[in-house]
Amino acid sequence: MPELHPLTSPLLAGNRRALAKAITLTESTRPDHEQDAQTLLAEVLPQAGRSIRLGLTGVPGVGKSTFIEGLGLMLVGAGHRVAVLAVDPSSARTGGSIMGDKTRMPGLTVHPRAFIRPSPSRGTLGGVARRTREAITLCEAAGYDVVLVETVGVGQSETQVAAMTDLFLLLTLPNAGDELQGIKRGIMELADLCVVNKADLNPQAAVRAQTELRTALTLLTPHDAPWRPLALRASALTGEGLDDLWAAVKRYHETVDLPAKRRAQTAVWFDELLREAAWRAFQAGVDPARLQALRAQVETGHLTAVQGVAALLGDERKNAHL
Ligand code: GDP
Repeated sequence: MPELHPLTSPLLAGNRRALAKAITLTESTRPDHEQDAQTLLAEVLPQAGRSIRLGLTGVPGVGKSTFIEGLGLMLVGAGHRVAVLAVDPSSARTGGSIMGDKTRMPGLTVHPRAFIRPSPSRGTLGGVARRTREAITLCEAAGYDVVLVETVGVGQSETQVAAMTDLFLLLTLPNAGDELQGIKRGIMELADLCVVNKADLNPQAAVRAQTELRTALTLLTPHDAPWRPLALRASALTGEGLDDLWAAVKRYHETVDLPAKRRAQTAVWFDELLREAAWRAFQAGVDPARLQALRAQVETGHLTAVQGVAALLGDERKNAHL
């Protein structure tokens, strides 16, 4: 039998240090580490997939970390093992991550059945998303049965997180009228669950916000959708509404054909990686001056865009025959 990767057995046994090391390995950009990480991932892959993957977004201050702390503690209290990951594209610029920051979830951070990992702070959004996907696999292989992936609700990272999780939760505030304007329609369209947080501050406003959200979600959802997104109310601070939210998550899991959804997500991801790799390979083989010259001809209307592309691909083919 071929020897296993040294991290495989401890990881599968649920060892947290092995899990942390494995995630660090997947975040490395050294080619030998990358290969090593892929070996490890391939070995543990058959043991992954047995978790509820929950994506979570909302503008800064809406209460994401308080919510994750509250929900996470409720779940570990009920015997679950909870992993918290983050996709924070801003951390790639600032070199530091506020999301998944351990000080934001003090109770969960020290709980033996919880694992918190900040967003990788290097790389493009695509790179950060890839590493988060790999971290999900590693957490599942290590026995975490709930994986929360947090993202800040202001950019494009939401689409990425929705594409790697089973269901996507949008946290909003009781002043929904104003807030709905600020939430990009695209983010609402991704949401399977919307939760009006801080309902304790102004219960009546929270009910109004919930009604408005419900209307908006109804308008956005196709009639034949297998799941009709829900609008709920909660208070992350008092814990009120968290059990209803979790019941909705479980209902979702029973309603939606998750294996099919995950297969489709994986296929899309594979195609994305392939497109990226093909583009990189093309760029490596093309003469940049020729590319620029053709682009200029297209810009000035001397060639159609289609002709420009065909000319470049023609070059490629000729080179391949040399
Ligand atoms: P994040 O930036 O989305 O992670 O938001 P935080 O979890 O850091 O919360 C921002 C502020 O809102 C903190 O002062 C929290 O204590 C407070 N907060 C969060 N959830 C609730 C809630 O349900 N009720 C009340 N009253 N305050 C909350």
